[in-house]
Amino acid sequence: MIYLLISLAVLIVFILIAIRVGVTREKEQEKTSSGIIHQSGIYSIVRRSPRENVDQHKPAVEEIRKYLSSQNVDMFGKVLTPIDKETLLASWHQILEKSIIEVEEGDKKGTQFYYYELSGDDPVCKDLVPKGNFVTREQIYHYPNVIPPFHLGCRCELKCYLGDENLRDTRVFGMRPFFTEGKLPHLPEWKKTITPA
Ligand SMILES: [Zn+2]
Repeated sequence: MIYLLISLAVLIVFILIAIRVGVTREKEQEKTSSGIIHQSGIYSIVRRSPRENVDQHKPAVEEIRKYLSSQNVDMFGKVLTPIDKETLLASWHQILEKSIIEVEEGDKKGTQFYYYELSGDDPVCKDLVPKGNFVTREQIYHYPNVIPPFHLGCRCELKCYLGDENLRDTRVFGMRPFFTEGKLPHLPEWKKTITPA
């Protein structure tokens, strides 16, 4: 009888140990999965479309229209006709939209790097936002003002970098980081320069 009782006690102890081990494992698994959720949370914030807050960094159409109505000439002193002004406004909107779509499309592919390209003569961005300079997706998230256009008449475009290289580490010919030492470079001020329409 006593042996039976001892065996039962031993069995109960084993069962209790087994339950405890099981519970601890479950808790550990919970910890790991919540860690993953947390990370994917940050990832999804970085990948949030710039469309959501770009209006905090770029002037609204009405503001541009109002500004243009007070301007008579472009940076070279050429008279701005009403058609020129409409062209400038339309092209501002077009470039902004194109840049946002490029980022949205890049997010679907998990694009890390974007670079600047000039679609035509742009005397302002030629020096301030050189062709081939690149920004990371994270920089776009933190500084939505790196999204073109930068001024009226701007011909700067943001393009997805489709190569596999980590541009921070490899030296792809003609591509350089736009940010120097993590600092946002001086960007053109949209009100100061009107390049030809
Ligand atoms: Zn420009």
